[in-house]
Amino acid sequence: MDLSNKKVLVVGLGMTGVSTARFLKNQGAMVTVTDMAKEDELGDSVETVRKLGIKMELGNHQINTFENADLIVLSPGVPHTIPQIKKAKDKGITVLGEVELASKFIRRPVIAITGTNGKTTTTTLLGEMLKNSGLKVFVGGNIGNPLIGYADRKENAEMVVAEVSSFQLDTIESFKPKVAVLLNITEDHLDRYPDFKAYADSKARIFENQNTGDTAVLNGSDPLIRKLSKNIKSKKLFFTARKENEEGATINGKSIILFSKNIPAIHNPEIIDISSASITGKHNIENASAACLTALAAGATLEGIQTAIDNFKGLSHRLEYVDSVNGVKYFNDSKATNIDSVARALEFFSNRVILIMGGRNKGASFHALSDLIQHNTKEIIAIGEAKKDIISSLGHVVHVNTASTMENAVFKAHGAAKPGDVVLLSPACSSFDMFSSYAHRGEIFCEAVKLLEKGKKEINLQKSS
Ligand code: ADP
Repeated sequence: MDLSNKKVLVVGLGMTGVSTARFLKNQGAMVTVTDMAKEDELGDSVETVRKLGIKMELGNHQINTFENADLIVLSPGVPHTIPQIKKAKDKGITVLGEVELASKFIRRPVIAITGTNGKTTTTTLLGEMLKNSGLKVFVGGNIGNPLIGYADRKENAEMVVAEVSSFQLDTIESFKPKVAVLLNITEDHLDRYPDFKAYADSKARIFENQNTGDTAVLNGSDPLIRKLSKNIKSKKLFFTARKENEEGATINGKSIILFSKNIPAIHNPEIIDISSASITGKHNIENASAACLTALAAGATLEGIQTAIDNFKGLSHRLEYVDSVNGVKYFNDSKATNIDSVARALEFFSNRVILIMGGRNKGASFHALSDLIQHNTKEIIAIGEAKKDIISSLGHVVHVNTASTMENAVFKAHGAAKPGDVVLLSPACSSFDMFSSYAHRGEIFCEAVKLLEKGKKEINLQKSS
């Protein structure tokens, strides 16, 4: 694809937009970047792009700029359904997403991972499995390291491991992963898709350009994924609920059992031991089994896989143990921004949980959590814009208290907890009403827990003086 002297419009000035603009400039394109947000809302991105000498149109989208472009590159944060994009498409202008554009410049096999939950955990673990097998890999995409940056730097990995979101899949055309993984599909992003089907269809696009020489790794316990797998042309590997003689992985206690006639490294059956791994929760064992199959399909060794599993410590903000105060354990699961991830966290605890949840609702019905909450939750502390929704959906099952800040929520949870209880931040919502990101929200939670610990010490000191 020759981009020199082409008028290219980049829509969205987040991390991906900046990387895309830089790439395009280096390819000799005449680049403009546009974002609906104003300059003072966009942070450092504006200065970075300005220093590159790239034109910006901020605070609005000018239709002329869309209609006069030779090519439009859309960032994942911007819906592909905005009217300006529709008009440009009607005029015959090509609109691509960053993943699609990057894939046109990546000469190495791409391993792509999608799903509602578990993408970052699986992508990270898979990257470690491949590295421990002696392969030189680039790990990026939605994980926070755009693929276009890899293409721009002309790095030379043996393969590219890419986390891809549904928003990125919305704007692919020819993106064709050598191995593609679909971890699960549950309700999410209903504020951006017209309905669940549209969201699920977007996830399934990860397989649309694969052919018989490629591999699909699929969640065999999910009936929806089973159904859509019938339309996939590539070789299929199922994890967690492999049917008899089916290629894939099953979980048996503390072992992941791998079975495949097509993967030379597997002498059937092959067993990966997870007994000494620090992998927490059934969902993470599912992620690990998907990662094992994917790694093997991509050329990893069994030794490399076992080493990665043994050393994997889990990621921050995902069911992360923070501290114990007065016999109460605090867990930070700030990355749980939808119903199923919260359900998985609640299933993990048999203790009575004090659940801090809320934020900006993405269109979910909290009612779906009723049974689990009735079973193991002592109290909910609701925060953010979703407070009212939480009270109306769950107030009949459990007492719902509210808090105006995270510090206040942690303080109230501390007041309600007895030794042996668990205080869990697992919000089921996005963070943007109160925080800059899920990570920011998780950090403030951890700081508030540390203050409890500090307060406890001060009280003890006062007592002893
Ligand atoms: P993603 O990148 O898809 O958001 P993460 O690995 O960052 O996934 O995890 C996000 C949230 O989902 C965390 O709360 C985590 O505990 C939970 N989670 C991880 N794997 C799964 C899974 N397979 N099914 C359901 N929830 C999961």
